[in-house]
Amino acid sequence: MLRSVLRTTCFAIVLIHTATSVFAADSRPNIIFIFTDDHAAHAMSAYGSRINSTPNLDRIANGGMLFTNCFCTNSICGPSRAVIQTGKHSHLNGFRDNGDRFDGSQQTFPKLLQKAGYQTAVVGKWHLGTAPEGYDYSEVLKGQGPYYNPPMLVNGNPKPVKHTGYTTDIITDLALKWLQGKRDPNKPFLFMFQHKAPHRNWQPGPKYLNMYDDVEIPEPDNLFDDWSGRGTAAQTQDMSIRKTMNASDLKLSPPGGLTPEQLAVWNKAYEPKNKAFREAKLEGDDLIRWKYQRYMKDYLRCVASVDDNVGRVLDYLQDAGLSENTVVIYSSDQGFYLGDHGWFDKRFMYEESYRMPLMASWPGRIKPGSVNHNLVSNLDFAETFLEIAGAEIPGDMQGKSLLSLMQAGPVANPAAPPAMTISYSDKLLDCTQPEFRDSLYYHYYEFEADRRTAHMVRRHCGVRNDRYKLIHFYNLGEWEFYDLEKDKREMRSFYDDPQYKEIIAQMKIRLAELQKEYQVPDDTGSVPADPPSNHVEPVKRRPQPKKAA
Ligand code: CA
Repeated sequence: MLRSVLRTTCFAIVLIHTATSVFAADSRPNIIFIFTDDHAAHAMSAYGSRINSTPNLDRIANGGMLFTNCFCTNSICGPSRAVIQTGKHSHLNGFRDNGDRFDGSQQTFPKLLQKAGYQTAVVGKWHLGTAPEGYDYSEVLKGQGPYYNPPMLVNGNPKPVKHTGYTTDIITDLALKWLQGKRDPNKPFLFMFQHKAPHRNWQPGPKYLNMYDDVEIPEPDNLFDDWSGRGTAAQTQDMSIRKTMNASDLKLSPPGGLTPEQLAVWNKAYEPKNKAFREAKLEGDDLIRWKYQRYMKDYLRCVASVDDNVGRVLDYLQDAGLSENTVVIYSSDQGFYLGDHGWFDKRFMYEESYRMPLMASWPGRIKPGSVNHNLVSNLDFAETFLEIAGAEIPGDMQGKSLLSLMQAGPVANPAAPPAMTISYSDKLLDCTQPEFRDSLYYHYYEFEADRRTAHMVRRHCGVRNDRYKLIHFYNLGEWEFYDLEKDKREMRSFYDDPQYKEIIAQMKIRLAELQKEYQVPDDTGSVPADPPSNHVEPVKRRPQPKKAA
């Protein structure tokens, strides 16, 4: 009898325990990672944009934490995505530039989340060359994907499914379909909601073709930068509004691939503007000013559609009662030059394309209206997602989870924030922690000496701390050094200024230490000291043509 009671009790305890475990598993938070392409922080009102307003994106910042100093490890599309998948620098995950193809057989965070019982899905831009692995559901653009009428690849099937409409809207429709009906409601999820916009060539949706028509977008103070005071790399790039921006970028003729109805709407908006431009016969600086206006208006029109569509997803989460247990994170694969230095595009370690927007909301866990100035990176995202899900972080991932920063409360006596090219509301609560990371390592690879590569930005590696930045254009044998407190727009390298000699020496040591820590191979710029005078460009790695970034 006693035995029987004991057995029953034990059985009941086991049942309760199992039920508790199941309950605990089910209550783990959902993660929505909203990711765009080339959206610079200084084109978001949460980051003090002077040129546009992003009310829906700001909802994430207002409801959670705004990170002001998030930087990428390699400022270009595919490599940033590969770093996020793996938590490893480009030289280890094998995706160093946009000519590479991602090896999906390696360890990635979605695979680890799957093992931990999460369902995983990605909808939208993927851009890693190979089919997504580690996802229960994937529906992604083929390569870059067009702005209108995108073919989408479902679950790795090479035969695309065609859609008619504006890509930013369609990706959101598909995202909502998955959230509403395709997922298992009994399992927590990781959902990657990834837009093509606002990538070049910035084709606005039908709703916004005339937005900003009567507005003059403020120019950056260095739109007419002549790159003196910096080295060969800045002076020989091919990404200036003056020389590089082409007729397609400027919408002087309509884009291909539109339906007759879409084309009619497009032409109605652009033909009068283009006629006025042709009649004005602009030259010199006036022409640059006009190009800047056309470029920024189209870019910001694309951002406006992203903002609307993020709002649709946030509304859905609220209406479906999912907001409370869902972490929402917004970021973009790198920043972008919005006429800064006279440029568009990215690649350089200079601030505007190096910085990534990053904000995160999680009701009850991240304090609304908080701000963090610690140095963080896309290298940290995989680890963060894993820790949020309560999954183990593998020892070979190279970043640090940001969860402790997200959950830190406001500090009593915050230090003065470091110098930045962006701003934020002074009402935000400063939750910056005294010690997280002293410096970040950077490495850009996409340049081949024997042929033209997209935008011709020379290879470089570098190190940045709260105030200083040291960049090594190792195949040129040139160094640049910036004091962001004295020169936040990076208009002059102080590398040869004797007053910085000691700091530069320390930064070189730190760069070498980081290269060692991150296992950077010797043939990829691991040249902490001055290179020999006969240093030449490396031999080409692959003869294949480069895809657009
Ligand atoms: Ca990008």
